[in-house]
Amino acid sequence: SRQFFVGGNFKMNPNSRTEKKALCALLNQADIDSSVGELCGFFRDLEVVVAPPALYLIPLKEILRKEIKVAAQNCYFKDAGAFTGEISPAQLKDAGIPYVILGHSERRTLFHETSEIVAQKTKAALASSLSVILCIGETLEQRETDQTAKVCSEQLQAAVDVLTEADWSKIVIAYEPVWAIGTGKVATSKQAQDTHADIRKFLSSAVSPAVAEKTRIIYGGSVNKGNCVDLSTQPDVDGFLVGGASLKPEFVDIINATR
Ligand code: 13P
Repeated sequence: SRQFFVGGNFKMNPNSRTEKKALCALLNQADIDSSVGELCGFFRDLEVVVAPPALYLIPLKEILRKEIKVAAQNCYFKDAGAFTGEISPAQLKDAGIPYVILGHSERRTLFHETSEIVAQKTKAALASSLSVILCIGETLEQRETDQTAKVCSEQLQAAVDVLTEADWSKIVIAYEPVWAIGTGKVATSKQAQDTHADIRKFLSSAVSPAVAEKTRIIYGGSVNKGNCVDLSTQPDVDGFLVGGASLKPEFVDIINATR
């Protein structure tokens, strides 16, 4: 069975160090997995990862309880050099950052990242032993013209083309329909389940049945404390990538969705 995964994508928030501290205090004091003693350093049936702006990665890693991991929201595909404004996988690795989010729809749309660029970044991140939260998802127009499965497959195919089967053990796929991100329009549990099942079917034929069975496919897009429990009961929904609600106390309710 796949370990439930809850990620908080803070995006370009919070915009002060005071708010950042308050967020950490909330998470550090939250009742999350009471069955595990503080000394264990991990939650039993749950993986929790938060992705702050790059500037806050190291402070957050130092302040947060050990069970909660941190993720970068992006990285480049080279390890060093003349690439002003970028952060490399090697630098993240060296800083002790275990995860990176790649291919978020905001990066694809606002910063013109193609699926091929996202695939190169994924390959480079894995080469530095980072784990990757690989985001895919269709626009409203694509959903309305029945292209959801095709779009998700094409976005993943670019990664399949450059990765080995073993690489997939360090990838979490985040299915984030663009029309659900930041809109308050969450996918229904059936829409999420159907698309996650299609993604798993794609992995089975494009990579292998074993990879399809093991890979976590998480849902993102207007997840909140009101809809998370229902979504979490779907067999192919292995967790969430939470945006807006990850900055609020209700993030703790979402983390505890399966409890
Ligand atoms: P919201 O939860 O704010 O819709 O954002 C989802 C998202 O983009 C997570 O990466």
